[in-house]
Amino acid sequence: MIPAAFSYHRASTVDEAVQLMQDLGADARLLAGGHSLLPAMKLRLARPAALIDIGRVESLRGIRQEGDRIEVGALTRHADLAGSRVPAGLEGITDCAGIIGDPQIRRRGTIGGSLCHADPAADWPAVVLALDAELVVTGAGGPRTVAAADWFVAPFMTALQPGEILTAVRFPRPPARTGSAYLKLARKASDFAIVGAAARVTVDADGRCTAAAVGVTGVGDVPYRASAVVDLLVGRVLDDAALAEAAGRAADGVDPISDVHADAAYRAHVAQVYVRRAVQAALARAGRAA
Ligand code: FAD
Repeated sequence: MIPAAFSYHRASTVDEAVQLMQDLGADARLLAGGHSLLPAMKLRLARPAALIDIGRVESLRGIRQEGDRIEVGALTRHADLAGSRVPAGLEGITDCAGIIGDPQIRRRGTIGGSLCHADPAADWPAVVLALDAELVVTGAGGPRTVAAADWFVAPFMTALQPGEILTAVRFPRPPARTGSAYLKLARKASDFAIVGAAARVTVDADGRCTAAAVGVTGVGDVPYRASAVVDLLVGRVLDDAALAEAAGRAADGVDPISDVHADAAYRAHVAQVYVRRAVQAALARAGRAA
């Protein structure tokens, strides 16, 4: 339970972190909250030769309203997001942040660390997928943005390139009459998701669904957008029968994981239940936002 030896470096700006990554090379890793990286190092699943601590880069922290979007700094802690006021339609953010791990995890862990670690059972992936977020990264070549839908490449692997740092997550401000929600069936010990579902729903004045997105975590080996569900939501008045029919497609095209926590058939079933509940919760909020 003792990590292999490493050198420790502290960056005080993003530019400094990028420079340190260039100087220290591929064996260096960024350290944010340390709540995924340090356990992996203690188990010797990760053996970085150098750690670059970004924990004091203040420009990476905080929630800003920028025109038609909300920008969340990568270093913003789960607890800060759980206690924040988000615009109508982005409620899935506070739902998610408030049920990650326990209070200690939420006070150290960061949204950026979670999205870069890309644990297939983590909660944020479902939410960034459902809320159409954009991830802002920067490296020696300057900044670029990656759509959440293109971020998760494989288990524990993202579109982040060597030498790049995630600086922010941008959530577009949703139109009127939009609601969102995140719910999960959690493992008892760690609170990671066995299945987590995020939904965003927009309705018109007659209650007909005009736009929707659903993100699912914990079911496949990477988080995904449940597009078959969305196909059956948009254009319809979402009564119980319509919701059940749409949610029945929650695991379409996915090969669910079997592990010690749940087998594939159970995960596929729970995905349907949680997608239905998340859409229902988002719909109720969309109605209230009218
Ligand atoms: P770190 O551990 O510091 O870093 C994780 C990885 O991301 C490292 O590879 C690091 O180099 C990289 N990284 C970090 N920041 C950046 C950046 N800005 N740019 C580029 N790379 C970066 N998660 C859940 O989703 N749900 C849970 O219920 C849950 N329960 C937990 C329970 C326990 C007991 C523990 C220990 C963890 C749990 N977690 C859970 C994970 C927790 O949310 C982590 O804090 C989070 O996944 C990682 O964030 P971090 O800031 O600690 O990142």
